[in-house]
Amino acid sequence: MSWRATLAKIAARWLSEMPDMFAIPWPPNIRLLSENIAMSHLQNPIFHDEDKARAWFEARIWPNGPFCPHCGEAENVTRLNGKAHRPGVLQCNSCREQFTVTVNTVCERSKIPLTKWCMAIYLINSSKKGMSALQMHRMMGGSYKTAWFMMHRIREAMREGKDVGRAWRREQGRRSR
Ligand SMILES: [Zn+2]
Repeated sequence: MSWRATLAKIAARWLSEMPDMFAIPWPPNIRLLSENIAMSHLQNPIFHDEDKARAWFEARIWPNGPFCPHCGEAENVTRLNGKAHRPGVLQCNSCREQFTVTVNTVCERSKIPLTKWCMAIYLINSSKKGMSALQMHRMMGGSYKTAWFMMHRIREAMREGKDVGRAWRREQGRRSR
């Protein structure tokens, strides 16, 4: 599946999952929570902690455990821990390729942290009237070029995602029947 299709699947599920996904386990600041629910969403650790962001992507892209994006191996993969490896790298013991959760997703081959991708996807999904790259750049900081790049990839993924999302929901419907 292309990165567009993969992210599209996530994006299709995003809105329906939103209340759970952004639930904060306990209110760190009651006043803030009641005053501004959006601000409490933004406090979600997936937006600030790279490990949590990766765990969030992994849980969605690999709901049944990691599999190799090169050959499809699901049983014989090893997580490479330790300082010698980038965080989040796995090795397939069938084809010997290394991979991370970002292969075949919008985040593939970009140096942008996953926390930023989480934030960008959230901002685009939560703004009803759409969002310009300029507005995203203002809200997230960083360079305009980065904001434009993320927006471009996410939008493209979501456009394809309408069909993917529909097919996915049909599939889920069939399974739950
Ligand atoms: Zn493999």
